Amino acid sequence: MNILAIGAHPDDIECLCAGTLALYAQAGHRVVMAVATNGNVGSPTLPSEEIAAVRRKEQQASCDLIGAELIWMNFDDEWLMNERPTRERFIDVIRQADPDVMFIHSLNDYHPDHRIAGQVAEDARIPASVRLVETSLPAIGKIPHMFYMDTVGSVDFQPEAYVDISPVFELKKRMLLCHESQDSWMRAVYGEDTSITDMMIDQARSRGHAAGVRYAEGFREVRTYPRTGSWALLPGFGK
Ligand SMILES: [Zn+2]
Repeated sequence: MNILAIGAHPDDIECLCAGTLALYAQAGHRVVMAVATNGNVGSPTLPSEEIAAVRRKEQQASCDLIGAELIWMNFDDEWLMNERPTRERFIDVIRQADPDVMFIHSLNDYHPDHRIAGQVAEDARIPASVRLVETSLPAIGKIPHMFYMDTVGSVDFQPEAYVDISPVFELKKRMLLCHESQDSWMRAVYGEDTSITDMMIDQARSRGHAAGVRYAEGFREVRTYPRTGSWALLPGFGK
């Protein structure tokens, strides 16, 4: 299968579904990680272009750990808008990845870029397969099935299914650790004791408690017409 995850910022996919992506990759599926914004405000010290370049490098290193393809969409951080050029670009990303399964942000996540990325991805699902919706790539032949990723901090998100990521947890952690620039940024914005790695570990553990395993990632299904799949598409669910 082809698997596509779309995150708003570099590091979001790692926090919310990298374990699941690692499981897909290890099972031989093609994994594509698309990052909507370039992280160009994510530094307490560096100029915008410099931090964007750093973050792209960090993101590529993370993708390389599981052999995932990176689509760097390069929208400005904090300014993702639900407008025609954005949707056209998202349609192109879906056409390039040609996914069977997609992971998108929950529509109630904390950050506007997350909410917009989730909404535009969901809205791009059908037009990606419509021939006369013309973008830079031709239409694909199938409509992908979608799952919502957990919210940051698990706020107001009740998973419907959990993927046991215990076997790949260290790999997920290494992927997140590629985003070295983000710990200093998180501390500058959210307080000295905020570590993105600690937050991810706490979340994976608490979702693991709920699932009865060591570490887990939680998901909800995007329920909409047409019905294109089921939980059986998640790693560990198809048996
Ligand atoms: Zn984010």
